[in-house]
Amino acid sequence: MSDCLFCKIIAGEIPSAKVYEDESILAFRDIAPQAATHILVVPKAHIPSVDGVTAENSAIVAHIFEVIPAIAAAEKLTGGYRVVSNCGADAGQTVPHLHFHILGGQTLNPQMA
Ligand code: AMP
Ligand code: ZN
Repeated sequence: MSDCLFCKIIAGEIPSAKVYEDESILAFRDIAPQAATHILVVPKAHIPSVDGVTAENSAIVAHIFEVIPAIAAAEKLTGGYRVVSNCGADAGQTVPHLHFHILGGQTLNPQMA
């Protein structure tokens, strides 16, 4: 997707503060952190949102969730953390490329919505 912000970050056309990368996923720090630690984990393949997850591409989601605990450990989120994916307008999704927020490093607001 040539006009997708996160595809441009993945391609290196827009800089990011990378915390993890392998052949299929990238994790980088959110530019406007909403917690002491705020990291985004994205598939390198363009999937618009959770709504775009299918039997054909769901292995990448499983891989992301295998890597998230390693990122949390590397970031020393020993007290716990929250994983969030906003899907669509009602959830406030602003970047239409599937991403999982990792939020932690502090006590988080117990209110989810
Ligand atoms: P969402 O609102 O769930 O779609 O999340 C999009 C996130 O991307 C927001 O938390 C933004 O702060 C973040 N964001 C937007 N532009 C950038 C960027 N250039 N680098 C890192 N994070 C970004
Ligand atoms: Zn994209």
